[in-house]
Amino acid sequence: METTERQHYWLPVPDRTGFHWHRHAFRGKHWDGRSADTSVCGVQCAMANPSELDWFQSPTCSDCMELLISEQSGTGSTEGEQ
Ligand SMILES: [Zn+2]
Repeated sequence: METTERQHYWLPVPDRTGFHWHRHAFRGKHWDGRSADTSVCGVQCAMANPSELDWFQSPTCSDCMELLISEQSGTGSTEGEQ
């Protein structure tokens, strides 16, 4: 039951105000240094190299978490994503 094709990684990113950080999931193996990407939950994020404090202080995005869980369990897909 191992699905390695749907890889993702987590990265703390600031929201549009720059004050609130969340740890979103992104498609791919790891962050490759790009300056922006769309998270699993569909938010356009500005990316930067996070500090240890960012990792510590950023709450995990529950939308990303639920999407990944539903993907892994094979249920809850409402958009017919391929
Ligand atoms: Zn998210």
